[in-house]
Amino acid sequence: MIGHRMPECLDLIGRIQPKLRQVFMTESRVLISASSGTGLWEGAIRNTVNKKVLNCVNGAFADRWREVTELNGKANEVLEVPWGQPILPEMVVERLASGEFDAVTIVHNETSVGTLSPIAEIAAAIRALPNGEEIMILIDAVSGLSGARLEFDAWDLDVALTSSQKAFALPAGLAFAAVSDRAMAKAKTVPNRGYYFDFITLDKSLQKNQTPATPAISLLFALDQQLSDMLAEGMENRFARHLAMRDRTIAWGQQHGIELFAPPGYESPTVTCFSNNLGLDISALNRFLRSRGMIISNGYGSKLKDKTFRIAHMGDLQMQDMEELFAALDEYLAGVQ
Ligand SMILES: *Cc1c(COP(=O)(O)O)cnc(C)c1O
Repeated sequence: MIGHRMPECLDLIGRIQPKLRQVFMTESRVLISASSGTGLWEGAIRNTVNKKVLNCVNGAFADRWREVTELNGKANEVLEVPWGQPILPEMVVERLASGEFDAVTIVHNETSVGTLSPIAEIAAAIRALPNGEEIMILIDAVSGLSGARLEFDAWDLDVALTSSQKAFALPAGLAFAAVSDRAMAKAKTVPNRGYYFDFITLDKSLQKNQTPATPAISLLFALDQQLSDMLAEGMENRFARHLAMRDRTIAWGQQHGIELFAPPGYESPTVTCFSNNLGLDISALNRFLRSRGMIISNGYGSKLKDKTFRIAHMGDLQMQDMEELFAALDEYLAGVQ
């Protein structure tokens, strides 16, 4: 291990930062936190809101960010659609038109339902509002980023946050947030930003290739290597690989008459959620898969458990891994029918 104030660690963070920016497709800072993504949910809310937040909710994670907003004492309103449906630009701007809001939270890739919301279009619609420049566009990109396209600068976002253990395919324990200059300027006007997730403190340290508190040093070594591997593959190739695995997963479902949970056109590139319309015993299915060294996920939370199930196709997974999974699933289905 190296000490976190030693030159070796400053070099490490110095190497990581430009690579992180490429992955987030930004020239802005990408803050690094020794926490999971949930910590940066708090950070985004605590640093950028003075008036009122519009929490867009289309699944369990979006709903938890709403809860985090409220527990941090910020005024909010909720735009809720049936879980699994995307958040769409018209809905968001209609609610923001009242002018009461200075921030909006949206989940890019709702992991609980396998739905991708059109963030580029939503952001463009928000910026076209008379007060569009004053609205902080806060994006949870936790299970999407690096697998599902997200262009932080081109889409003009204010905060996009993710965790290390989803599409980055790293051990858990790190989280990252790209933060716009607009959001940094806003943070200076916001009282009670707290300490651990204070963007101004984090940014000041980052400019010296440091973090204010001890970073998760061992995980930074892994991150350095993984970012190099991601960029060697190339972001466009990475997005294409995820889409190909998604399309293969959807085709597998169709082959068996298994219905998709997400509406057409909004299927997540990194996780597919199927309706359990065949009435499969998901626990039994997973016991079978485990014996083959594989696992899929049951539906998320009490509302969706056993009614849906999810197949991940993110991170380091390759088409060959998916083919092995589908061969095992086919074998299981042939056995139960
Ligand atoms: C996993 C997940 C989270 C929570 O992230 P942690 O790293 O577990 O804190 C938030 N949002 C989405 C969309 C997720 O998939």
